[in-house]
Amino acid sequence: MRILITGGAGFIGSHLCERLLGMGHGVVVLDNLSTGSMDNLEPVKDNQNFEMVIGSVRDNALVQELVERCDAVIHLAAAVGVKLILEKPSLSIHTNVNGTENILHAAANGNKLVIIASTSEVYGKAVKVPFREDDDLVLGATANLRWSYAVAKMLDESLALSYAYEKRLRCIIVRLFNTTGPRQTGYYGMVLPNFVSQALKGDPITVHGTGDQSRCFGHVYDAVESLTRLLNAPNAIGQVFNVGNDEEVTIYGLAERIKERTGSSSEIIKKPYNEVYGFGFEDMQRRVPCVDKLEEFIGYRPRTPLDQIIDDVIEEQRAAAVSKA
Ligand code: UDP
Repeated sequence: MRILITGGAGFIGSHLCERLLGMGHGVVVLDNLSTGSMDNLEPVKDNQNFEMVIGSVRDNALVQELVERCDAVIHLAAAVGVKLILEKPSLSIHTNVNGTENILHAAANGNKLVIIASTSEVYGKAVKVPFREDDDLVLGATANLRWSYAVAKMLDESLALSYAYEKRLRCIIVRLFNTTGPRQTGYYGMVLPNFVSQALKGDPITVHGTGDQSRCFGHVYDAVESLTRLLNAPNAIGQVFNVGNDEEVTIYGLAERIKERTGSSSEIIKKPYNEVYGFGFEDMQRRVPCVDKLEEFIGYRPRTPLDQIIDDVIEEQRAAAVSKA
């Protein structure tokens, strides 16, 4: 197959490119390099089955042309990360809604299979864990712009499912839970690479709030495995899937584990949310996926243990520090 990966220069996208090329597929990447980078594509850039297009998913004519040339689309391009969403909320909404609309429109016209990346953020403040795909979604007030990301992604999901219903679009929606691993940068606020970098530098490890809030971290390789299997799972068409690991850890507990595994002498400090994100920020207390449906459809679920994920990120950051020195 020839597969279009939007956002293919990003953290998840670049790992996915490597994997699909390794499986013998052709890959076309569309990325505007806003948060992605050509460095991520270093391992594949000379592969003859790889093509890079620098451009935006908001460029409708370009999207139509690229989708036409491919057999399937994996749409990862989006504005992501709480920090970026809060800094540029309207641009994030435009990208996350209009970009997806362009992709869906082109895929429906050309009868192409499309995987749409959504997010665990759509579960919002729901308190019944683990989260199942058919659960209610509970968001906060619009005045808190954090929720704009979930609103945009929910609209993407609804639009995809509408196209599936009205135009027989073959689409699969994945709600990615906290995904981490090598190449993820802490710059956009993502906690795990951030803590590792603080620990390796001996800087304070900054836990937001009490640190009692919890998350489940999945290895990017496991997310990629899930996506490639879904691409070949005709029974998954028209379905929504949680993609994540269900090993839960509090953020304070994560800081302690990273401190221990790096052998760091960093102090762990707590920072009130208001100091980090401004007044009125809301966080979710627990976020745990139910991954049964994914396993039922593809015979696989993300299982890499958190300690292994942490060690992979430590190894990458140590190697990067050595090559810089
Ligand atoms: N967080 C933290 N310190 C950081 C970055 C994040 O304590 O330097 C917290 C953040 O407030 C949230 C959790 O870690 O409770 C996960 O944050 P992230 O932005 O990685 O993902 P989210 O789950 O919020 O999308």
